[in-house]
Amino acid sequence: MNCIKCGREIPEGELFCEVCAMPSAAPVKEAPEPKREKKPKKQRVKKPVSRKTVRRLRTALVISILLTLAVCALAAYGFRLYVERTEELRIREASVTLREKEADNRDRQITELKQELSEAEQTIRSLEEDLKRAQAEADATPKE
Ligand SMILES: [Zn+2]
Repeated sequence: MNCIKCGREIPEGELFCEVCAMPSAAPVKEAPEPKREKKPKKQRVKKPVSRKTVRRLRTALVISILLTLAVCALAAYGFRLYVERTEELRIREASVTLREKEADNRDRQITELKQELSEAEQTIRSLEEDLKRAQAEADATPKE
């Protein structure tokens, strides 16, 4: 092929002229692709669907419906289990809280009783002191 500008020969496969750097005309000629797109692909003749295919499709549909139902049933069962377990845990937690509250109450009662006991001990001690003092006074007073 020759250069369209300077007329010198361009080796095949070269995109530009070696002398004047003019692009070779080759790539322009290699573009007949748009014609291919004009062929409509949808004109293929529709094959009649065989009964075998219909039967196979129907079986696949039934199987997929059954699978969906099975998955739904499993999900429902799992959800119920989850709810039941959650309820159980909540009840257990509540009873634990109740027991803790009871224990707290008992602790408070014990503390109160201890306080009362120490108060009573103090009273006893002061009463004992009073008694000793009274005895001492009785001893000190001369007997008639
Ligand atoms: Zn050239």
